[in-house]
Formats: sequence, structure tokens, C-alpha cells
Amino acid sequence: MPTESTFILAAIFLILAATGWLLGYFGERDEQPPLNIDYLKGLNFLLNEQTDQAVEHFLEMVRVDNTTIETHFALGNLFRKRGEVNRAIRIHQNIIARPDISSEQRNHAFYSLARDYQHAGLLDRAEILFIRLSDDSEYKLEALTKLIDIYEQEKEWQKAIGVSKKSYKIKGDVSFDHQISHYICELAEEAAANKDYEKASSLVKSFKSHNKKTLRLELVSAKIALILGDLNSAANVYCDILNKNSYLITESLPLLFDIYTKQDRLIEFDAKLSLILEKNPKMMNAIAYTAIVSDINGSNIIDLCIERYIQDDNALSEFISANDIIRSNSSVKIETMAKIRQGLKVLATSNPRYQCNECGFSSQKLLWQCPSCKQWETQRPFLSVKFDSLLQRKAIDS
Ligand SMILES: [Zn+2]
Repeated sequence: MPTESTFILAAIFLILAATGWLLGYFGERDEQPPLNIDYLKGLNFLLNEQTDQAVEHFLEMVRVDNTTIETHFALGNLFRKRGEVNRAIRIHQNIIARPDISSEQRNHAFYSLARDYQHAGLLDRAEILFIRLSDDSEYKLEALTKLIDIYEQEKEWQKAIGVSKKSYKIKGDVSFDHQISHYICELAEEAAANKDYEKASSLVKSFKSHNKKTLRLELVSAKIALILGDLNSAANVYCDILNKNSYLITESLPLLFDIYTKQDRLIEFDAKLSLILEKNPKMMNAIAYTAIVSDINGSNIIDLCIERYIQDDNALSEFISANDIIRSNSSVKIETMAKIRQGLKVLATSNPRYQCNECGFSSQKLLWQCPSCKQWETQRPFLSVKFDSLLQRKAIDS
């Protein structure tokens, strides 16, 4: 079966053949030798599905000059986009090998070749070319952006910080603080994993004065405080996060509850949660959902949030009469609520819990960098159980 590349190359050969014929017919014959046999040879390779030979023949036949260089670039980029990276590399290397091209065209070819290497996973080679282009070329900013991609992929956070700062110096108008604060968090988490808590703490502190930083820095500092046994400092950080009505409730409420449970201070926990809810009653749903998913039991305020959640959920009322359950006698109510909570937890944890605001990528765990669109901190938690699949099943059964 002829591939798409075959048709693309065939089209290029035919266009070149037609151009050659027209120039031969109307132009000066001395300047344009008749190349029809070469075109036919190229087409013959294609008809035999010998695409590599056809590419080589194209490169021999059409030398790189100002009139053909764009065709070479277009063909190279097309091959890369189609995943045929070796052919793209061959075409871009051929351009670079020409001694008579301008420095801008050479840089364009180096940039294209670096992208080929990156696409092929040859990150070391891509890095060398992008560094060269980032020093002084028309592709300075693009090269820096690609270097950031490479360093993120290789988890070279310190290098990513350096390149982000260099990009900021050139761009000026775009702050890189948010992504740099995530690189700092990655470095701090690495240090904490290696039990170097001093380094982890000083990394987090080093970025606290910046404006556009992530709240993740707070979470990392709370985690270090927890490891070092400073429960009160950790609890203060988690309370701050809840007071900010942050979507990071899913990352902070369960840990805050653990701290107060360990210290046998659940009455104080309830008092703190009541204050947070007074200031922001809309948090009730998020608290209930987080408590259901994380199995938080033993807090009166959280139990009330869950009762309200069950009463207010329109989809859930399709299955149960929440008001009857809540008004029933104590032991029946406790038993039924426990069953409902368990059912909701199973439903919540068998579906994605987080979704990226930018591209829709969803996952069970919070991912600070979206694996699909590569943006930082774009995932948000779902804050209610999705009943769609269950309702569909009910509709089919009935
Ligand atoms: Zn995304």
C-alpha cells in the first residue's frame, strides 16, 4: 500500500517536473537542463515504495538554493510531523551541509534539526543545538522554550530554573515565577526524599517573597514540618489553605484531620472548621466530598456537611430519600449513612477525581504538571460524585 509520504513526494516530483518543463519551454534552455529522466527515476522509486531512495534522489536532484530551500524545510517538517524523523533529520542535515546558505537559513535548519532530535528522543543532541541557538540567534526564545521542555522531561529542575530566568530577561513581560516555584517544590521534595530537610526548608523559604508563587510551596513546608514532628506548624499551614478556599482542600483537609485526631483535639478541629464554614458556606460541599473520599470519620461538623451534601444532591435523590434517613432513629441512621458513604466513596474512587482545566486530561491523583498539555497546576478536583454511569445503567434497567 502506498503511504501518505509516497503521495507527498510524488506530488513534489510532479510539481518539479512541471516547473522544469515550463522553464525548459519558455526559459533559457542553457540555465535549466532537462531533468525529466531524473523526475521519472524519482517517481519510479515511489511506485516501488522505496521512499528512502526517493528522498535521497530528491536531495541529489534539487540542490538547496534560495528558490528551493523552503520546499526542503516544508518536506523536512512534514516528515517530522508524520513521525518519520530519520527522513526529516536527513533533509535538515542536507540543508546545513550547503556552504552557500545565509546564517539565518542555517539557524533555521539547526532549529529544525534540534526539533527532529527532540522528537526522536535524542535529547542530548537536541539540548546542544538549542543551547547554541539560545545564545544569539533569531531562534533564541523558541530555543529557550524547547530547553525548558527538555529539562522538565529530564527532571533537571535547576537547569529549568536557569533557562526560565533567561527567558524572563528576554521577554520581560511574562513572569515565570509560577513555574519556577513548581521547580523549587520539585527540588525541595527531592531533598526531603533524601532526608535533607534543611535544604528542603531553605529552598521553600527562598521563594516565599515572590508574588506569583504556587500554594504547593505551603504544602511542601507543611509536609516537612510533619516529618520533623512540628504538628502545630503543619496544622496552621493546612488551616491557611482551607481559609483561602483553595481547591487544595483535597490535599490539606485529610492531613489536618489526622493531626487533630493524633492529638485527641477533635473538638478544636470542629471549631476551626465551623469558623471556616461561617466565612465561606460554599466550602460545605467540598468538605463533604473530600471527607467521603478520604474516609474522614468522627467529626460532627463533617458529618453535618455530608448530611447536607446527600440532601442537596439531585442525582442522589433518584436513589434514596435522604430526609427519611436523616429523621430515622439513631442506629438506623448511623448504619444507613455509613452504607451511603461507602457507596459514594466506591463511585468517586472508581472515576477520575482530577481534571485539567486546559486540555481535559483526568486522573485519580493530583498531578502538578499535566502529562498531556504540560501546563503546571491546571488540574482541579471534582467536588461531587458523578452519577452519570449509574443513572445510565438505571435507565437501561427500567
Ligand atoms: Zn492539560
